[in-house]
Formats: sequence, structure tokens, C-alpha cells
Amino acid sequence: MAKLNREKAEKKIKALREKIREHEYKYFVLDDPSISDAEFDQMMQKLIKLEADFPELITEDSPTQRVGGEVLDEFKKVEHSATMLSLDNAFDKRDLRDFDNRVQKNLNGEDYQYVVEHKIDGLSAVMRYNNGSFELGATRGNGEVGEDITKNMKTIRSLPLKIEEKAEMELRGEIYLAKSEFQRLNEERLENDESPFANPRNAAAGSVRQLDSKIAAQRSLSILIYDLISHSEREFETHLEVFSYLREQGFKVNWHQSAADIEAVIEICEKWQEEREGLDFEIDGLVIKINNLALREKLGSTARSPRWAIAYKFPAQQKTTKIKDIEISLGRTGALTPTAILEPVELAGSTVSRATLHNEDEIKRKDIRVGDTVLVQKAGDIIPEVIKVIKEDRDGSEKEFKMPENCPVCGSEVIRPEGEAVSRCTNISCPAQRKESILHFVSRDAMNIDGVGPALIEQLLNNNLIEDYADLYFLKQSHLKDLERMGEKSSQNVIEAIEASKEREFLRVLYALGIRHVGIGAARILAKNFDSIEQIKEATAEELEDIDEIGPVIAESIVGFFQERHNRDLLSRLKQAGIRLEKENTAENEKFLNGQKFVFTGSLNNYTRSEVKDLVEKAGGRAVSSVSSKTDYLVIGDNPGSKYDKAKQLGVEILSEAEFKEMIEKK
Ligand code: AMP
Ligand code: ZN
Repeated sequence: MAKLNREKAEKKIKALREKIREHEYKYFVLDDPSISDAEFDQMMQKLIKLEADFPELITEDSPTQRVGGEVLDEFKKVEHSATMLSLDNAFDKRDLRDFDNRVQKNLNGEDYQYVVEHKIDGLSAVMRYNNGSFELGATRGNGEVGEDITKNMKTIRSLPLKIEEKAEMELRGEIYLAKSEFQRLNEERLENDESPFANPRNAAAGSVRQLDSKIAAQRSLSILIYDLISHSEREFETHLEVFSYLREQGFKVNWHQSAADIEAVIEICEKWQEEREGLDFEIDGLVIKINNLALREKLGSTARSPRWAIAYKFPAQQKTTKIKDIEISLGRTGALTPTAILEPVELAGSTVSRATLHNEDEIKRKDIRVGDTVLVQKAGDIIPEVIKVIKEDRDGSEKEFKMPENCPVCGSEVIRPEGEAVSRCTNISCPAQRKESILHFVSRDAMNIDGVGPALIEQLLNNNLIEDYADLYFLKQSHLKDLERMGEKSSQNVIEAIEASKEREFLRVLYALGIRHVGIGAARILAKNFDSIEQIKEATAEELEDIDEIGPVIAESIVGFFQERHNRDLLSRLKQAGIRLEKENTAENEKFLNGQKFVFTGSLNNYTRSEVKDLVEKAGGRAVSSVSSKTDYLVIGDNPGSKYDKAKQLGVEILSEAEFKEMIEKK
């Protein structure tokens, strides 16, 4: 980019600073950002660049010259013993190599090594220990002065309140809310008619800022420690040494890996960009630090950030865009689901042009209108979601959304039953519903019938060859041959694929039925507790609710399913067709693993997580998510997480993926 002239640059710098200050206030002080982190980062990068081009324009009050925002006054203020700096950002390989070049130059040929850590997307905290006790916990605040959150931090279970070390020391770490905990919390909030949090970071911030520590205690915050700032009695040579010392003292330390040079660092960054979704907490990048502490001293810091560290930021998962329209699609239960049609944006490496809006209430709660500018988020395989509306951007031309009164497919009346969030088409033979329920039946996790796709299902329905999924099993090749794009060969393939699906396990059949609220997880639980469809059909809602993981909503839905005459008829036709409506004979297998508990960590090469779960359970074992003294085996894939350390500590038997494979296949 060509250099701007000075006058233009000055104007631009001023405008950028004002914007950044405004957003800094919203982000850091109010915890209520109106733009995405990536957009904010971009503004900051622009300002840094402009100031580098015109160093004479740098002022003391520029956002690039100071750290963070202002302090809220609800909590006691705490002056930090050392300023809590920001980190410089790197967005690609080139930035990382540039950083490395600067380090190399500043160290005059001295040898150095890096340590790479997760950059946890939470809130940084400083902790003081003295006499073996946790004395003080504080937020970062503006970097110089933070807030005393000792009481709230004491509710963090993984933070030891007592340690062996008697010396005075200060640590830093990141407070965050696990993804699973975030989900649980939001479900709870929705049930209580409270508005859900936008993301785990905001939820953690809200919890840390609770004046009532009892509320904070219910939120199950977590913390990972990543730095030792001072120690009254010991000197350390390297960051790795610090980590092992902290771990010895009983702290939960941040994941880290050493890297001999910047190319090794880049490899680690690329790997985690792929694998971040596997973690139960959000990371927005990695932090790269010099391992040798004397060299850190030598490199020093600027006013804003240390010269011995840099944050590598992953591509954005949140961005703002516009809602062009709201479309209605019909699900297999006749539910009308609104979907936002977006101006396409690049998110986490793919183009996003649709986002789910869930239901009418959700649209009302977020006050989403056609024409609105919204913050959208995409994480991994999850369907893109609208996080919030940027109301400042409205100009009055936005249109409120209304649920249609008639089904967009069959024209029948749409009703929304009392107490339900979902509007439904009232026509039980609505073609859209039928199509969706058949699509669900043949899907991969259900009966996995290859070759029966949306186009074929539509043709079969339109030609009255089938009415529901059970009818698939009574199709003959002669029925198919005359359909569009259906020759001899492909019609034969379809018939064979349908035939082959008769071998699907009980659990898959249960899921395929499409009972409302019975996803693959609930199906798995049902399959564990019942031996046949017949047994489930006989169960009362109370009996179903007696199962730990089954709540009243699922129970009622199951009972309701079997009450419907059409569904009973469907089942008898499935039975006639020879579908597995009972558990396969697992008596022998059950003996084999006999209730032993398995935990998995790291990425596996041969199986998906869902597959290993199936395998273990089929063999009579149990797959659980966290390591405890009751765990029998930890199976480790590539790059195992903290479960590995815990298992070692507890003496849990550890299996490689190959060992697990052998064990499960030899039975
Ligand atoms: P930034 O706010 O983007 O300048 O990044 C600095 C912040 O990253 C720190 O204040 C911490 O809250 C956070 N952070 C997360 N993980 C780490 C880590 N492993 N090391 C240092 N800082 C981290
Ligand atoms: Zn309809």
C-alpha cells in the first residue's frame, strides 16, 4: 500500500483511535462487544501500521501505547506489582517469521528456544500466594490496576487454596468457562427466561464479576496457569522449568510444547488450527514465548507488549454481516424453522451464507429483523448462528419477522401449541415432513442407506411409490427403473443398499425412527437400558424418566410416538421387513469388557469419537469423558491433552490407539 500523505494519515489515525477506544470500552469494560475480535484486531493493526509510517504522530494516549481499558468500581482495586501487558499479534506464517527475525537480531546470535501454548479465550488473572495459602486474586483491569476477585476465584475448583511452597509468589493464568459448562449454563438460563450468554468468554467474565460469590460458585469456572511473575526464594532458568515446578505445586498448568525454531512453531500452529474444536475450552490462537528467562530479560518489552512473546491468532470465527432475508424450511416433525439468508462472509475458512435462527421466540428475543447487521459465528462443524444484532447500524428500513400462517409447502394451517417454541404444519401427511423424516431415516448416523437422496425420495413420494420410510423395504427394482436418472444398474444398487441396511444395529434403528428429541445420544441410552422396541413401547413416562439421562420432555415424546396409530403401523411394517427391533446378542461381549471405563484423549487415526464409543459399549464397556481414579483405561491418540497427565498421576492404565485396536478387535 502506498504511503498516505501526512494530513490524510493524521485524520485517519485520529478516527481510528476514537473507534478503537470506543470498542475497547465496550469489549474490555462492558464485556459487550459490538464488533468481532477480528474486526477490532484489524483496526488496531491498521493504526499500528500508520503510526509506524508516521512515528512523529504517535501520542501518549494512543491505544497502541497503553494496555487495556478502565476499571469498574464495584470491586476493591488492586495495584499490580508488574504491569500486565498485551501481546503482539501474528496472523500468518510471515508475521511469525518476522517476529523470529526481530528476536534473532535483538539477541545477537545467542541460542534460543520457543515454548508454544494455547491462547485461551478467557480472562487473565493474577494470583498471589504466601505462606502456602492463596491470598489474592485479581483481574487485569487496565494493566496497572485490577479488581480484587479473590472470593470468586476461590470458587474455582482447580485452583489450590493451599500449596506446599511457603514462599511468596505471584502467578498468572486464564480464567475460562468450559464449552460443556457454557452449554449447560445457557440451557439453564433459557429455562429461567434469562438471556443466554453470547460465548464462553462473556459467560466467564459475567461470572468473575459477580459480587455474590455464591453465584460464581454455581458457574464452575476453570483456570489454567501459564506464568510465574515472582518468587521470593527461587530462581528459574527456563519457562519449562517453571511449568514443571507449578505442576508439582498442584496447579493446573496450560498445555505447552517446546519448539526448536520458528518452523517448528509454525507446524504446531497449523496443527492446532485444525484441532482446536476437540478441546473443551475455546482457544483463539497460540502464544509463542522464549523459553530462556534471562533472554526474556534481555529482550525486554515495549509499553504495550513484551518483545519475547507473540500471539498467533486463528482466522476469525465471528464476523458481522447483513441479513438479506429470512427463509422458512420444514423439518421432519413439521416444524417450521426460520433460517437467515446472509450476505456471504468468510468465517473460519469457509463461506457462510445461511445461519439458523432456531424459532420465533429466538428471533423475538434477539430482535432480529430482515436488513439487520448481525454478528455471526461459526465454530467447527456447528451450523452458523446469529449471535446478536448491531442495533446502532439500523436505519429504520429493517423489517420485523412474522411466522407464516400457512405451511409454505402444502398450504395447511400452521399452529404453535401452548407452551411450545416451535410452530408446526398441522398436516400429518405434509410432503415436506414426510420427505424430511425419510431423509433422516436413511442418513449416515441412522440407517446409512447410500444412494437414497433427496431427489430420489421426492420422486418416490410424487409417484406414490412410498408414503413413509417403512415402505422403502417393499420397493422392487421394477418400481425404480422408470424413474428419472435410474437405469438398471443404479436401481439395483439402491435396492441392495436398502437390503443391506437391515443389518443396522438396534441403536441405529432406534435413532432412525425419528422420535422427536431422541438424538443419537438418547438412542444410545435407550439401547443400553432396553432390549427391544417392544420394551420401550411398553414403558411408561415415569419408567423412562427413572433413567438418569432421560428427562420429562424426551420421556413424553417417546410415549407420544408409540401412542400414535400411524407409528405403530410403521413399526409393524418395519418388523415385517426384518429390521432389527431388538438388541443384538451381546451376552458374550458384555463379559469381555464388563463395565470397564474408558477415556479417550488426542486425535485418533482409525476411528471417530462416536465409533470408539460404540465399540466400547458394544463390548460391554463404558466410554466416559473425564479421567478419575475409577477410570480403567486412557486411550491416547496424537497430541493427548491434560487427561494424559492426570491419568499418569492417578496410575490409570494407558493404551495407545494400536493397543486399543488390538484389544477391541481380538475379542
Ligand atoms: P491480547 O489481550 O490479545 O493482547 O492477549 C493477551 C492476553 O492473552 C493476556 O492478557 C491473557 O489474558 C491471554 N492469554 C491467554 N492464554 C495465554 C497464554 N498462554 N499466555 C499468555 N497470555 C495468554
Ligand atoms: Zn405442510
